[in-house]
Amino acid sequence: MTTQEKLDRSVMGTYGRFPVVIASGAGEFCTDESGRTYIDFGSGIGTSSLGYCNEAWTRAVCQQAQTMQHTSNLYYTKVQADFAEKLCGVTGYANVFFCNSGAEANECAIKLARKYSFDRYGKGRHKILTLHNSFHGRTLCTLSATGQDVFHNYFFPFVEGFDYVEANQIADLEAKLDDTVCAVMLEYVQGEGGVNALEQSFVDAIYEKCVARDILVIADEVQTGVGRTGTFLAGEQFGHRADVTTLAKGIAGGLPMGACLASEKCAKTLDRGSHGSTFGGNLVCCAGGLAVLETVIAPGFLESVQRKAAYFRERLATLPGVASVSGMGLMIGIALTEKSAAEVANTALEQGLLVLTAKDKVRLLPPLTITEEEIEQGIAILEKVL
Ligand SMILES: *Cc1c(COP(=O)(O)O)cnc(C)c1O
Repeated sequence: MTTQEKLDRSVMGTYGRFPVVIASGAGEFCTDESGRTYIDFGSGIGTSSLGYCNEAWTRAVCQQAQTMQHTSNLYYTKVQADFAEKLCGVTGYANVFFCNSGAEANECAIKLARKYSFDRYGKGRHKILTLHNSFHGRTLCTLSATGQDVFHNYFFPFVEGFDYVEANQIADLEAKLDDTVCAVMLEYVQGEGGVNALEQSFVDAIYEKCVARDILVIADEVQTGVGRTGTFLAGEQFGHRADVTTLAKGIAGGLPMGACLASEKCAKTLDRGSHGSTFGGNLVCCAGGLAVLETVIAPGFLESVQRKAAYFRERLATLPGVASVSGMGLMIGIALTEKSAAEVANTALEQGLLVLTAKDKVRLLPPLTITEEEIEQGIAILEKVL
């Protein structure tokens, strides 16, 4: 039985998979079972943010695995303390809750926002506004938060207390911001929704209206965070820091970790016994996270991401069949004039290039460590495919 047959028989068929068996990776490349290599413009949906088996990251992770893999959050550990302190320092947040995924980080943020409001204003002020076309995760609660009807099927009843605002429509925001709302949740660049950045004026309006009424702003930076857009948080480029920011995907370089960061005013909301996670803040994941963090904040690294992103975007815009290039930094959406995104992804794979899609766009989330030479290599393939 082939690997594909085995997996299809024993793993639930929740994913449509490309017909390739990935066996190993190094830097910006991965290799399949037959030994063929691919340049990877997707980095495992933005998770392996330093590429595959980055030297500093591998060393940190192996060393921690050989020291201790995990203990519970009933005890103190140095690597969790070091990572938390550094992450808060870099982002300007007061504290953090560690979990294992983006959905869990958002669950934590939603719980925090509801309790923050309950503690101050009592029952009934529990509604969370999110945006149409958003994506916040696959748990029942984060599916409710996700503003796309296609996700609101089969699994009834969903979690109550969510409503959806049309992105960039300030009037719609105003109409829905009533006194039952405790938080507004946004992605600065909607990822799964098609790699669309929000307009500055709309983001400004959210902050202005929420601050005035003590409504929390939650930034879901699961995809945009940790350097992906060229700054550590995408919010920096909009000139705002949310009350709560969630991170996951690239945070630990390909190990499962999520983080929910809280600002001073809501840092004490989730208190003893009000939330938890058995694996949250896992030691090996924290060691991986520290290695990523130290790399991303090293002098010149984020500037290099910005430079490479500008170069990448400029090159993409010149390719045939490209209508426009969207997103921010190394979070790139490509709107096509002729071919479908799925068609491009499939043909690119055959030609030795891995890309992602988001709605009708080709989506690229290359490793932050990619070089201009590797960008050229991938673009040469993409040009042929297009
Ligand atoms: C991927 C993603 C999530 C979900 O993360 P998981 O780790 O799959 O639970 C949530 N929000 C955004 C913006 C994402 O891109």
